[in-house]
Amino acid sequence: MSLTIGFDIGGTNIVCGLLDENGQFLAKVKQGTERERGSDYIIGKLAAMIDEVLAEAGEDRSRVAAVGVGTPGFVDPIRGVSVFAGNLQWRNVPLARLLEERIGIPVFIDNDVRMYVYGESIRGAGRGFDCVFGITLGTGLAAALVDRGELYYGGAFMAGELGHIRIEGEDAQCGCGMRGCLETVASATGIARLAKEAIREGRKSVLQQWCADPDMQSLTAHQVSQAYDAGDDVAVEVMNYVGKQLAKGLSYAVSLLSPDVIVIGGGAALAGERLFKPMRQELSKHVYHGYWERLQIRQGQLIDDGGVIGSAAFARKRLAER
Ligand SMILES: [Zn+2]
Repeated sequence: MSLTIGFDIGGTNIVCGLLDENGQFLAKVKQGTERERGSDYIIGKLAAMIDEVLAEAGEDRSRVAAVGVGTPGFVDPIRGVSVFAGNLQWRNVPLARLLEERIGIPVFIDNDVRMYVYGESIRGAGRGFDCVFGITLGTGLAAALVDRGELYYGGAFMAGELGHIRIEGEDAQCGCGMRGCLETVASATGIARLAKEAIREGRKSVLQQWCADPDMQSLTAHQVSQAYDAGDDVAVEVMNYVGKQLAKGLSYAVSLLSPDVIVIGGGAALAGERLFKPMRQELSKHVYHGYWERLQIRQGQLIDDGGVIGSAAFARKRLAER
């Protein structure tokens, strides 16, 4: 009974990994989420993916001690319920119980970003630090805190929505219903949006040639990074601006939580120093020097696998505590 399985459920793909007791991958499979087919179908898919990773590694199900699932939105990890996930259109889905009934192995679930940051804290960029604050910059911005090995949840398990603090001077419509939220700027979506807007206002950019469709709908944060490397003025300005606004949001977290390290994951974290350099400059102006002098800021090391590693380790921990 020494193996664990971790899942990372995203809006587009589900990744499943079989890990040994040292947290090393024995097998990994990825499938489309097909979220339009609903929760029962997706839970059936999770069960099938377990069979698939076991077959790939030549292992028996009886050796699996626990299954961990990182899933988007608000999650109650104690009851094992996905309370609300807008992008999956789930409301009060008792995911842990339903999956456990199918597979006969204990199942533990939590929010996907918490599982990613937990993974980074034990096996990635946050390893060795007492207090790890992690954010992911993807479609939006979400955060989680691991303090001395324990996740912080807050009331109703809703802690970590740093993406929805409002930033002065911002006014874009956010998916949450408010305007000017941090994640409308500091996210992969925000980076692409700001570049598009600058071009629409008449600025010249190499991105106009790189992104052929008329409204530049397909423009990505990654292309903005590439344009930055080509010395493109619009890309440089966007990265500097996003870094600066991100720092304003992070300054609240740093002052409130005193993390030893901020780990930055998610697709837009691949921008690395293009984004982190202006962010550091601005953050140093916004936080008490006692915090600033000891704060580390690191790119995530487990960008793709952190959620799977974290949820597998989380399941092992929860099982031991049970
Ligand atoms: Zn918002």
